[in-house]
Amino acid sequence: MSLRALFAPLAAVFLASPLLAQEVNVYSYRQPELVQPLFDAFTEKTGISVNSVFLNKGMAERLKAEGKRSPADLAFTVDIGRLSQLKAAGVLQPVHSDILDAAIPPAFRDPDGEWFGLTTRARVIFASRDRVAEGEITTYEDLASEKWRDRICIRSGTNAYNLALIAGMIEQYDMQTAKAWLTGLRDNLARKPQGNDRAQVKAISEGECDISVGNAYYMALMMKNDEQRPWAEAVRIIYPTFEAGGTHVNVSGVGLTRAAPNRDNAILLMEFLASDEGQRLYAEINSETPISPRASATRGGFTADDANLQTLADLRPDALRLVEEVDFDR
Ligand code: FE
Repeated sequence: MSLRALFAPLAAVFLASPLLAQEVNVYSYRQPELVQPLFDAFTEKTGISVNSVFLNKGMAERLKAEGKRSPADLAFTVDIGRLSQLKAAGVLQPVHSDILDAAIPPAFRDPDGEWFGLTTRARVIFASRDRVAEGEITTYEDLASEKWRDRICIRSGTNAYNLALIAGMIEQYDMQTAKAWLTGLRDNLARKPQGNDRAQVKAISEGECDISVGNAYYMALMMKNDEQRPWAEAVRIIYPTFEAGGTHVNVSGVGLTRAAPNRDNAILLMEFLASDEGQRLYAEINSETPISPRASATRGGFTADDANLQTLADLRPDALRLVEEVDFDR
């Protein structure tokens, strides 16, 4: 009797055994406290435990180096740039799930099924309550209007959030129009791009500028912070749209790794995160917006632009080129 014949029945017994650990292993760029409550809820529901490793950087390199032996099943991250980098590195595999496809609009998942958005992160305008009237700015195009000369604060043009927004503008129009817009925005800056999204709101509260561009969830984060609450209280959030589109959003998302030793359980976790319960939990913990229209409708708010985010990721090098051409950070 061959060794294989000897072990095959044993393997079958192990697979069928309820004693065998049911688990999913996660590599995450998201802070543990932002994802752990979700994993706990999943474990409670299914009995499948979730082990997560928090990484600061190098996820694609690590998955590549581990190859087929990688213990990781799922890669969690924010930003379309990072999701598409994982895809480009070849460390993900396609998932075809009717549940995921039904919950997540096509714009917010990879057309090849290698990554799925789980929450949206709107890039919005923060406007001074004192110096900007209601309805005075409603579109991203307006940011280039002369009326805002020397009144806008924004972080570096090379920042991932801004690159995605600029890619969104290219997608709406073309390189030439996007360049004219970016030039207009640059000419409206009250100061050289610097600091993070929250630093721009601080600058508004100190009178240095009147509007800024930032991610919406920072409003909630600032309100939870004693030092930053006065900054947040000085501004109002405006959900701008493209003139012929919706509000620009980025996503947090997930992909199934190429190795995925616990593939079936991992897909169950993905599907849980796309369910109404998972969506509500995820968005609440992160002050983001559910990606499933059914879940986000209950939170009200805004209409996300429907440009496919993989398209925006592909336009990222063009966006970076524009930032350099107009010397945005001068
Ligand atoms: Fe952020």
